[in-house]
Amino acid sequence: MHLSDHSLSQLDEAYVQSLDEGSLRGLLLRALEDLKEARERLGQNPTNSSRPPSSQAPWDRPSAGQDEPSDDDADEASPPDQDADQPDEANTPPEDASTRSEQTTKPEQPKRQPGKQPGAPGFGRTQVFAAHETLIHRPEMCAGCGKALPADAPSVAYAGFQAIDLVWGEADHPGLHLHITDHRLHDSLCACGHHTRARPGEGLVEDARLGSVVLSEWRLVGPGLATLIVALHRRFRMSHRRIRAFLHDWLGLSLSTGTIQGTLREAAAASAPLEAELIEAVVASDLLHADETSWPQGGELLWLWVFTSATVTLFAVAKRGREILDRILPGFTGWLMSDGWQAYRHLPHRLRCWAHLTRKAQGLIDSDDREAQAFGHQVQDTFDTLIGAIHAARDGPTRDLTTIHAALLAELRAACVRRLGHRHAKTKALAVELWNDWEAIFRVLENPQWPITNNDAERALRHWVIARRIMMGTRTEAGSRTFTLLASVIETCRQRGHVPWPYLASVIAERRAGRAAAPLPAPMPGL
Ligand SMILES: [Zn+2]
Repeated sequence: MHLSDHSLSQLDEAYVQSLDEGSLRGLLLRALEDLKEARERLGQNPTNSSRPPSSQAPWDRPSAGQDEPSDDDADEASPPDQDADQPDEANTPPEDASTRSEQTTKPEQPKRQPGKQPGAPGFGRTQVFAAHETLIHRPEMCAGCGKALPADAPSVAYAGFQAIDLVWGEADHPGLHLHITDHRLHDSLCACGHHTRARPGEGLVEDARLGSVVLSEWRLVGPGLATLIVALHRRFRMSHRRIRAFLHDWLGLSLSTGTIQGTLREAAAASAPLEAELIEAVVASDLLHADETSWPQGGELLWLWVFTSATVTLFAVAKRGREILDRILPGFTGWLMSDGWQAYRHLPHRLRCWAHLTRKAQGLIDSDDREAQAFGHQVQDTFDTLIGAIHAARDGPTRDLTTIHAALLAELRAACVRRLGHRHAKTKALAVELWNDWEAIFRVLENPQWPITNNDAERALRHWVIARRIMMGTRTEAGSRTFTLLASVIETCRQRGHVPWPYLASVIAERRAGRAAAPLPAPMPGL
């Protein structure tokens, strides 16, 4: 959007008549682009226009008396140490800004919603800090005539906000400190008579599950501090309430749980476009481990899936069926290590986890049924012999273990066939499973360098399974999405030998500025 409401309110016939032809063409082109964009939005969502006036950002609000700055404006331009009494609009709390997107997508709202009302004071407003620096943002170009605005163009602050960020120390000066910045947004007057307002950067992420999320530089919580909140929540498994207490006790910050929640959601939205990159890396893997574990979401029992290879880990919460595999794995031609769940059965190039099978054999050995015990021992002994052969082959010259152990395999296969209709249910189940999935199970004998367990996937899930117990799963689809996106980015960075937090901070900063984020860091050499 080139022309803010503030700019539009100044455009009239007299102004247009005053412009030269070049400026007029520029203005027409900008107005045309805005018109097309507005039409498109109108088509997509006719409720856009029902945005309550209180949600309008200060840079959009037309102000009366353009030529004479109001008293408020005069205050804004005063030195930072006298700025404690900023007008309310100058320090709109971050909660307001982060809920703007929801207000634009919801249909007509009833008169009064429960909870905090739009424009009502939030926690962020109660604390005002002495700033380390003041940044003045002036518009670079006149929105009216399109000419560059000179640095000495008359300008006055029309709004401002404070941002708190966390700065990492250097290797020889380790530590963390908070950096407070007072941002001053200026309204500059062009020679043509048009007033243009500087606006903070803004980025929009449209995600099927998160909805439309507006990322903005107009936030109390800077990208580095946002990343600390993600780390406390995801890596150190702290609840919103505990994060609030931690920030209060250790950093002297009073953030509302709403701000913390909004920050997590914004961090996830900033990471959402990275999912395509993660899926691409998963699909390109030579050897992929997949696993799934139950995951409650609201009242529904879903599954937390993980796909992990040497240099990428992708999490997703979904139903326990083929849909998720059909969404992520098309184009995958590598080897897939998994358990025996039937959703995987249609995939070619499968490897099976032996740990699952030997656990089942052990179950038969521990049963009270003699025939079951005998079969359990036979399966267990066969696997023990083959595992020994695989370990020996990994260190020595390549040999075809299928041929060497052909007799042993034939005996086990015959034993399975004899038990396909066995009266003991678990004996029958293991015989059927081995017989059905024979090729995938014993394929590892062709290449002993392949893994024989799915430990990598189970390890990737472990941290988050503990988180599940603490968090009791997630409440909504958006919550699951926030969780899996951030977990995927964090795990992938760590696997590639990078500390995830500075990267995540850069992703948030870039998206808030409306720019594309840097790709995920490449694996460190030697990994
Ligand atoms: Zn101008």
